[in-house]
Amino acid sequence: MKDYDVIVIGGGLLGCFAARNLCRRKMHIALLEAREDVCTGISRANTAIVYPGYDHKPGTLKAEMCVRANARFDALCRELDVPFSRCGSLMVSYGEKADAVLKKKYENGQSMGVPGLRLLSGEEARKKEPALAEGVSTALYAATAGTVNPWELGIAACENAAANGAELCLNTRVLNIRRAAEGYRVETDRGDFSCRALVNCAGLGADRVQGLLFPTPVHISPDAADYLILDRAAKNKPAHIIQYEPEDDGKGFNAVPTVEGSLLLGPSKRKNETDYAVNAEGLSFVRKRAGQVLPGLDLQDTIRSFAAVRPNPQRSDGSSIGSFVIDNPGPGFWSLIGIKTPGLTCADELGRFVSDKIAAELGAEENPVFNPCRTGIRRARDLSLSERVALVRENAAYGEILCHCEDVTKAEVLEAIRRGADSVDGVKRRVGAGMGRCQGSRCERAVMELLAEALDIPVAAVRKNGPGSEILEGGHGKN
Ligand SMILES: Cc1cc2nc3c(=O)[nH]c(=O)nc-3n(C[C@H](O)[C@H](O)[C@H](O)COP(=O)(O)OP(=O)(O)OC[C@H]3O[C@@H](n4cnc5c(N)ncnc54)[C@H](O)[C@@H]3O)c2cc1C
Repeated sequence: MKDYDVIVIGGGLLGCFAARNLCRRKMHIALLEAREDVCTGISRANTAIVYPGYDHKPGTLKAEMCVRANARFDALCRELDVPFSRCGSLMVSYGEKADAVLKKKYENGQSMGVPGLRLLSGEEARKKEPALAEGVSTALYAATAGTVNPWELGIAACENAAANGAELCLNTRVLNIRRAAEGYRVETDRGDFSCRALVNCAGLGADRVQGLLFPTPVHISPDAADYLILDRAAKNKPAHIIQYEPEDDGKGFNAVPTVEGSLLLGPSKRKNETDYAVNAEGLSFVRKRAGQVLPGLDLQDTIRSFAAVRPNPQRSDGSSIGSFVIDNPGPGFWSLIGIKTPGLTCADELGRFVSDKIAAELGAEENPVFNPCRTGIRRARDLSLSERVALVRENAAYGEILCHCEDVTKAEVLEAIRRGADSVDGVKRRVGAGMGRCQGSRCERAVMELLAEALDIPVAAVRKNGPGSEILEGGHGKN
């Protein structure tokens, strides 16, 4: 049996940041992930907004964490060498009822000390963002809102945790947890582990993981959401994140200019749906909202659609819980259950929170050699022509472009594989090969051949993958 001070269950954003922050102390850490890679669950399919913090109830941990997390985001992304765009957001309304909602959010934000908030008239809003439909009555401008690639951030945190000594155990599903003399015994499909403390970050399965040993205060009631992505060449894209507050009681809508240059539109909301398959009705809702708010967009520029699943936490009477659920049902046992928006924004804060609690419980000392910095994969497309030429002289594989849509070279794909990508999807999530207009139809074969060679398997055996329904295995609804 392998012994650790702390085991983190689940390699999504929350688990990766919990592991990274636990490494700040002298502790032996393992991260157990059921799937073949990290950040393939909720963390790969969401709206990608780094929220300013005006949206949450003042005084709650969620609101406080969000404001603090937002202020730290530039520094965090510098440490992890991940692109972050602080593009600002405009939440827009088209009538009195929604105007009042925006005013309330503004007041919330003021009381929370959110910097850079302004209420704009419709005219001011359209001046700032000419792509908006006419008739805007009010806009709440938040200068500190931004966007990040969620899985890139999570993978970076995981790489940094591993560089600081955390052990990553992929394809390792937790099946049972028992009490042990000095902590917990964690039984998995890859053998047993023991630990003094445990962090449960199992995403959609977090209620069930806690339920293996303790009662759970909430159950996850999932629902699904649909999104569209427009090509970076699409015309009339907004420069800011646009959030639409509807006048009726319907669902709002976001348009997010991503760090890759594409435009993310969505989400829809579908009750009690639990799989990652898109739904025609959901997508037509997203198209309708896009047409209402950003009428100059040409939806023919759509390059892909995807679905996400929300882990809504509910009490046993079915009532929903609006805040983060952080539970500590036994000594050294911490659960993050049903962490929805702004879980991406707050992933590092939540990781710090649980790691501080555990360090205090275990009496762990600071780790004097913890290094918070990680170097990302060198991207040829970010270089000037002369820098690029110099790089090709150093490494000829930087001269071979495999993904023409996203300008990804063979050298970058090889580096993604060296860092742990073992499927087409794993490469895509590390260097973006296949994410562009042709969605991999030109580069997929070349990526598969490189994977086959590196993994020493036939090309036909190379996995493509995508968000897996097995994430929901044994759990909710359909699956
Ligand atoms: C539709 C949607 C939009 C969102 N938009 C935003 C946004 O714009 N901004 C923002 O700040 N936040 C946003 N969020 C929230 C954010 O995406 C999540 O809070 C965050 O990704 C949660 O990550 P996680 O680590 O909890 O879950 P996951 O990423 O799902 O990770 C959990 C992991 O646990 C693993 N696992 C499960 N069971 C076991 C087991 N038994 N053994 C081992 N491993 C197991 C799974 O395989 C999975 O990899 C959004 C969320 C949703 C759903």
